[in-house]
Amino acid sequence: MAETSKPRLLVVGAGPVGALAALYGAKRGWEVEVYELRGDLRDASTTPLNFTKSINLALSERGINALRQTGDHRLLNIILSETVPMYGRMIHGQDKHAKLTEESQQYDVHGRYLRAVDRANLNKTLLDAVDGLPNVKLHFNHKLTGTDFRKRKAWFEQKASRKPQTADGAQTHQVQSDDRAKEIEAVFDLILGCDGAHSSVRFHMMKFTRMDYQQSYIDTLWCEFTIPPASDTSSSTSSGEDGFATSPNHLHIWPNADKMFIAIPSIDKTFTCTLFAPSVDFTNLEKSSSDVLKYFNINFPGAADLIGGKELHKQFNENPHLPLISVKCSPHHFGGSGVILGDAAHAMVPFYGQGMNAGLEDVRVLFEHLDTQHSTADGRALALNSYTKERVPDAHAINDLALANYWEMHAGVRSPLYLVRKKIEEF
Ligand code: FAD
Repeated sequence: MAETSKPRLLVVGAGPVGALAALYGAKRGWEVEVYELRGDLRDASTTPLNFTKSINLALSERGINALRQTGDHRLLNIILSETVPMYGRMIHGQDKHAKLTEESQQYDVHGRYLRAVDRANLNKTLLDAVDGLPNVKLHFNHKLTGTDFRKRKAWFEQKASRKPQTADGAQTHQVQSDDRAKEIEAVFDLILGCDGAHSSVRFHMMKFTRMDYQQSYIDTLWCEFTIPPASDTSSSTSSGEDGFATSPNHLHIWPNADKMFIAIPSIDKTFTCTLFAPSVDFTNLEKSSSDVLKYFNINFPGAADLIGGKELHKQFNENPHLPLISVKCSPHHFGGSGVILGDAAHAMVPFYGQGMNAGLEDVRVLFEHLDTQHSTADGRALALNSYTKERVPDAHAINDLALANYWEMHAGVRSPLYLVRKKIEEF
């Protein structure tokens, strides 16, 4: 029997996946509540989780299609207008005469391309799209602390903030309070865990279902750097154009054995860069950070010139050195009341550039399954079950591909010329 009222959809996490899921639910007329641990990303005072500024991501057709299927072409156009096309990889190196070299490798013979997107901007645009919709409520500074998937209840700790947000809608009420935090109880028909790699929804779901779970870290850390626009640096390369310090339409890679440095263009003509290296490299450089420039000059010739020696030191010292986690689990749902999406279900190493894209795709696929079932609790259980059946093998496969592409990016991209190059000695 069909439900008389619209389903109550509770989205935990307002990252790119949670924000898109809220939009999908809202477009179907569902009553949507979004609970996010951190403050509103659109406030200048909120620092993106783990990131100093924001990272640039490769947005591919997988993610774009999920955005397109919202049916909101204006939204898609806004997002795409704030991207930079990357037609291929630019592999940086040095020949036997120590001359800097660049080799462009097209992604696609038909000219199709990836787009560089600012993760925070994408997230903000999606939040703008749901904010103000009559059937959506956004609650920032709310941390999920418990979920009962049978009683369809969830509990949140409302953090004290400078701009407190109350969650006093028809579906919530305050059950306890003190000076620092309040506990909020929320009821739902369906809860979506879009709360990232360390998902609390997943943790609570494990108590209700026999979930297989596998988590691993690779022995690689990452640190973010920024290449300023050409006018800000005295040493732009000859391929710099349009105010960028180097070719804007490539994903730049400085490959080197067990480490690599990459740079992705931004619309403000900077490049957001990432150093990926074994943890021991970070430990050594943390002990003697004066060696950072030397390390770059040996391992990634030419890269430091684009950033500047002083900035390189500063950014290495100030920006966090972060781990890379990989998560596989199954099933992704419990009954008809809960499902995990995005990094919560399948955090992966970033070398295939598909983590967020796959998370956005989860939303599209989930709602396809929900749309084909009746909007009843029984129908939702069938939909979530068929979603898990379809999605788990795909999530595992892309997770494995991401790990495999690490080898491709730091070693396989090299032309035969580089394959014969002697391994550079540790400094
Ligand atoms: P998140 O972005 O982690 O968002 C989860 C949200 O949940 C956060 O806002 C968090 O505050 C909130 N939350 C957490 N716990 C709670 C709680 N208890 N209660 C309430 N809220 C909570 N992907 C790509 O597609 N292309 C790329 O090129 C790419 N490059 C990457 C490069 C690097 C260096 C890294 C680290 C990742 C990269 N990724 C890339 C992966 C991408 O960043 C993630 O897959 C994506 O951000 C996941 O989105 P999400 O919404 O699932 O999770």
